Amino acid sequence: MRFSPVAQIRLGALQHNLARLRQAAPNSKVFAVLKANAYGHGLIPIAEALSGVDGFGLARIEEALALRSHGIDARVLLLEGVFSDTDFEQAAAHHLDVVVHDASQVELLCQLKLSKPLKVWLKVDSGMHRLGVQPHEFAALYQQLSQCDNVCQPINFITHFAVADELENPQTVKQIQCFNQLTEGLPGERTLCNSAGALGWPAAHGDWIRPGLALFGGNPMVGGRAPQYGLEPVMTMRSKVLAVRHLSAAEPVGYGQSWRSNNATKIAVIAMGYGDGYPRHAVSGTPVLINGQRFPLAGRVSMDMLTVDVGDADIQVGDDVVLWGEGLGIEEIAECASTIPYELLCSTTARVTYQYLD
Ligand SMILES: *Cc1c(COP(=O)(O)O)cnc(C)c1O
Repeated sequence: MRFSPVAQIRLGALQHNLARLRQAAPNSKVFAVLKANAYGHGLIPIAEALSGVDGFGLARIEEALALRSHGIDARVLLLEGVFSDTDFEQAAAHHLDVVVHDASQVELLCQLKLSKPLKVWLKVDSGMHRLGVQPHEFAALYQQLSQCDNVCQPINFITHFAVADELENPQTVKQIQCFNQLTEGLPGERTLCNSAGALGWPAAHGDWIRPGLALFGGNPMVGGRAPQYGLEPVMTMRSKVLAVRHLSAAEPVGYGQSWRSNNATKIAVIAMGYGDGYPRHAVSGTPVLINGQRFPLAGRVSMDMLTVDVGDADIQVGDDVVLWGEGLGIEEIAECASTIPYELLCSTTARVTYQYLD
């Protein structure tokens, strides 16, 4: 028997979640956002499994070139655009759509002589204040791009929400208004929504939605749980019980001796640690499933192992463990570690074995 974690990836759940998103935004096309190694699920196998989607969203050109070198020819939107003449030329050669989010990118693009014109998405900063042109710069940059030989006309438009995961927050309405006012009457396609926008803000669906987390079965809403939207986890992080030991009352467990049992109990040692991507900041009490039953994490997470208080349950070496996924929502684990499902998914390390299932 091997005592090491396996990330099981259910491609059927991915298809299911895509269908849920299409139901939620029936008049929009979908850029499946697969940045950061498809949120830790493996870029190429996930892209291949999503061959029916309308396009892919990626953060960096290296990610797009990896798709192309695997023969994946679908439409790709580079969410941060590119920053050098060679990368603009690569984007043209590989027919990548690029986001243009500031004046220097517009300047560079308009000076070049590209072999083919590019599909361009002009990004508006409607309130996120991270990337995007300011409302007062918009008209001039739009004009410049409209006259640029390297740009396929018409120009398309993109913006990004800061708090779409808070359904009561009026900021999103303001962002939608700002974006709509600036782009009103202009030709070209529009995209505003990440997962939270797609699930929670139908007025903003536009021509394309850009879901990431929800495709992988994560609920993007603050305090949300996946089943609320009928999403299914794509990744289930599994491992095994490596050892079981008996403790007397008041005996501590692990580094720092931060946890002590009140009573005599049993501790199951699990082959999973922060060296595999389990969050070290998960607190004692974080749920762990062993043979389908919930038990609390006890003491600090170590690099290769974590320890679970199993009381007097009949737990044996080799028993099956789920750290997150089927039967144990990743949102709950993220909360127990003061983080978000996104970070947990992206943090899975190269030491974990990936298993792809239909
Ligand atoms: C990452 C990202 C997305 C996807 O966000 P989710 O919350 O995972 O759905 C969409 N748009 C942009 C610009 C992004 O950077």
